[in-house]
Amino acid sequence: MRLRNVAGSREEIARSRFVIQNPKERKGCWRELFGNQNPIQIEIGMGKGRFIMDMAALHPDINYIGIEKFSSVLIRGIQKMEKEELPNLYFIRMDAEEITDVFGEKEVDKIYLNFSDPWPKERHAKRRLPSREFLNRYRIILSERGDLEFKTDNQALFDFALEELKPAGWNLNQLTYDLHHDDKMMEGNVMTEYEERFSSRGNPIYKYIISP
Ligand code: SAM
Repeated sequence: MRLRNVAGSREEIARSRFVIQNPKERKGCWRELFGNQNPIQIEIGMGKGRFIMDMAALHPDINYIGIEKFSSVLIRGIQKMEKEELPNLYFIRMDAEEITDVFGEKEVDKIYLNFSDPWPKERHAKRRLPSREFLNRYRIILSERGDLEFKTDNQALFDFALEELKPAGWNLNQLTYDLHHDDKMMEGNVMTEYEERFSSRGNPIYKYIISP
């Protein structure tokens, strides 16, 4: 969802109090930022932030951190926060490849991946957020009972994500190939921007919940 060259977005992000500017300095100390001991949940590739903002509003007893690579997209989330501030949500602009430099061991209680970029070329498989390379990173930062939830409408990416579980040594806890017709897994579902767009076209939404 890259919106190219939103004028001034980098500068606005650098000034925003909703964005953590030097996230590596917070490694191991994220709860201090929130001033409580509540669980920490992160969304990697939050896009314009609809999902994580709705989650933060619904669950004030959970601390949320939204991660997005591109300023031109993240800026939309910041603009929404300026209108409706949420005390339990911060943003980081970074590439998730650096995730273990930013969060300490077992510091994160849940990771959300929503409609991650498919990177269809085989030589780019390592860039896919549910790849074994990323699962190895997530394993380090997830707490004992931590887990990861992934939603997509991209069947090739979902098949790939399922195949990565065994080599990465993760457990499959829940699975659906049609989330919106699965009453149990739909409980408490919060729609993302992409989810709304693709499900309204009739695409089934795939989801799994996994743990290391
Ligand atoms: N999660 C949102 C949703 O479901 O509506 C946005 C989905 S969009 C297809 C994927 C987003 O992930 C893009 O905004 C992209 O910039 C971001 N992204 C992709 N790879 C990333 C990475 N390595 N680190 C951080 N963000 C990433």
